[in-house]
Amino acid sequence: MVTYYSRFIPDVSTITYPLRKLLRKNQTFYWNKECQQAFLKLKEEISNDRVLVPFDPELPVTLATDASPVGVAAVLSHIVDNVEKPFTSRSRTEAERNYSQLDREALAIIFRVSHFINYIYGRHFVLITDNQPLSRIFHPKTGFPKMTSARLLRYSSFLAGFEKDWKTKTWIAYLENCISADISINDEVHQVCASAVFEISSENLTADALIQETEKDQELAQIKPEFLSSPVSSDYILDSGILFRNNRIVIPKTLQPTVLNELHSTHIGITKMKQLAQRYCIWKNIDKDIENLVKSCKNCSSVKHSPAKAPLHHWDLPINKWDRIHIDIARPFQGFHYLIVVDAKS
Ligand SMILES: [Zn+2]
Repeated sequence: MVTYYSRFIPDVSTITYPLRKLLRKNQTFYWNKECQQAFLKLKEEISNDRVLVPFDPELPVTLATDASPVGVAAVLSHIVDNVEKPFTSRSRTEAERNYSQLDREALAIIFRVSHFINYIYGRHFVLITDNQPLSRIFHPKTGFPKMTSARLLRYSSFLAGFEKDWKTKTWIAYLENCISADISINDEVHQVCASAVFEISSENLTADALIQETEKDQELAQIKPEFLSSPVSSDYILDSGILFRNNRIVIPKTLQPTVLNELHSTHIGITKMKQLAQRYCIWKNIDKDIENLVKSCKNCSSVKHSPAKAPLHHWDLPINKWDRIHIDIARPFQGFHYLIVVDAKS
């Protein structure tokens, strides 16, 4: 980041000399007093008045974001005479270590767009990221890849409300000072987890019960050390004592019958029940348990063989063309989906 803004910092090569010296070949890495002074001086310079310009609503705006495993940061700038001039000092936050790089970069964008909303809402701005896949996923003119997570879809719909262009570039890695936090990404994770708990909670299934039973559960006790030893590669997140796997609550054994009954409270079929479960909860053999429950449900089996019969009837012939049209989507045929529209009159 310092390299990127070096053109605004007078005498930058002198200031950075002790730090650059550390990177020389065969040089022992020793952080001495000079290095510390250089580091502090750089911090001071990058947030100095000489670097920053006041906000001007008439000038073009760019928002540059980036994420590393330890932090996410953003800089909001004006373009003055084709030169990028920041008007906020960088804003930093601690990265969620459990997130993939793609999710971290996405969060960097979402948090900073929300953070700087007063400057960018309702006006055109350029969003800069060094993450090419993300710019494709979020770009309004491209479709989503099939495997895009629900989280990215949610972010994308949020970003759709802003008028922006995309640019990608390789940005120099962060200095350690990016680590100090202002807003924690853990808040975002907590919010996603809390909404899943809210969706499935009922009189018989409370967050407290989930916490207590998760604590006691033998099987989940085995997952926890695995999660704690490699949080980055693990699919699991432990939030306020409740275990999540890819945003789905891992239900402890003792509460599984309660959740099954909740899911089947309106006697929905196997497929719909599985779809509902996939959104909020998970346990080993959940699909099998759902199938067994529906098959053994007396209410469901008594109505299974008597589906309501809809009488067949002909449509009346319309008087004019385009009075009534019939629309359907045809299955993939030779690699294409077809939208079929038929005018009933013609
Ligand atoms: Zn039933």
